[in-house]
Amino acid sequence: MRFNTGLIVLFFSTSSLATNIATKHTIDESYWIKENKSEIFELLKSRPELTIDHVSTSGFELYGPKGLEGFLQQNLIEYRPLENANQNLRSEYPTPEAVEKDLKIIAKKYPGITKLYSIGKSVKNRDLWVMKLSRNANLDDDRPEFKYIANMHGDEIVGREVMLRFIKECVENYGKDPRLTTLLDKFQIHILVSMNPDGAAAGTRANSNHSDLNRDFPDFSTSDNQDTTDKREPETQAVMKWQGEHNFRLSANFHGGSEVVNYPWDTIPDRFPEEDLVKDLSHEYAQNAPYIAASTTFSNGITNGFAWYEVNGGMQDWSIYWRKDLQITIELSNSKWPDYSSIDYYYQQNRPALIKFIERIELIVKR
Ligand SMILES: [Zn+2]
Repeated sequence: MRFNTGLIVLFFSTSSLATNIATKHTIDESYWIKENKSEIFELLKSRPELTIDHVSTSGFELYGPKGLEGFLQQNLIEYRPLENANQNLRSEYPTPEAVEKDLKIIAKKYPGITKLYSIGKSVKNRDLWVMKLSRNANLDDDRPEFKYIANMHGDEIVGREVMLRFIKECVENYGKDPRLTTLLDKFQIHILVSMNPDGAAAGTRANSNHSDLNRDFPDFSTSDNQDTTDKREPETQAVMKWQGEHNFRLSANFHGGSEVVNYPWDTIPDRFPEEDLVKDLSHEYAQNAPYIAASTTFSNGITNGFAWYEVNGGMQDWSIYWRKDLQITIELSNSKWPDYSSIDYYYQQNRPALIKFIERIELIVKR
């Protein structure tokens, strides 16, 4: 394998050469890298403007700015293009506008236990809707605040659909199912069903500015170690502002492309100060979602984030490090955009885990 490192400078701006400088993760080109030779992985990892995701034994996803393909060719790295989510499959799913309509109907029908509010707008001016589920949902009181965030990568759609089903089940069974009733009585549950509706509409990972939202948060391990919204994407800014308005203590962030529960840190190799706790929570989630625990790739269906692959500017570590909101990252499905008919399976598989994980906030606030 020949590495012509001199060419790198030709294709990427010199301003992003140092590895510890925060860089926008622009996605103009997307590839599957078919080989896992460590020197190739290390070369690509050393490029701060590139995004590596979903590393597996057969290869990994690589995202980057214009010129990436030429760079791969020059370095004789084998690749194939990653396509946007398939148009036929996409057409089976509700549009962001249909999702919005559904949420509005639910909020109107169940005014006592829901509050639908927007935390801001996407690049294309779509509202970022949060459904709050709680008894007296309009009161912002002292009960523990929990949140789920789905679909921050637009082409990872299963989380959004699972959340919509969970919301429906909660409102329809409040006062009937004792466990769900207790959940809404005791806690304030906030669900951002789609952090990236523009990406969902287009079937793309990035938002409409070609930016990877899960690399756009403040990063305590780089020069971007300031908890400010400056120069961040509107969707990222909205989540940061939202977090400032609530006392969230436990949360999860849903992705797709793998089936595993990922616990902190993502950013650094150091042991997380409460590693036993986050491992237990992750393990419990996986056990309650049996297809995740049955993973043949990840032992017990869980992994430390950094041990899998390093993420800089991710939401999980930002949430924990800057805002004291314990967050885990849940990869719900190997297929990012599966047949719509499979969504009920994913919902049923995750349902017990979703409920148990929310109940765990009691443990978190008491510790
Ligand atoms: Zn993702």
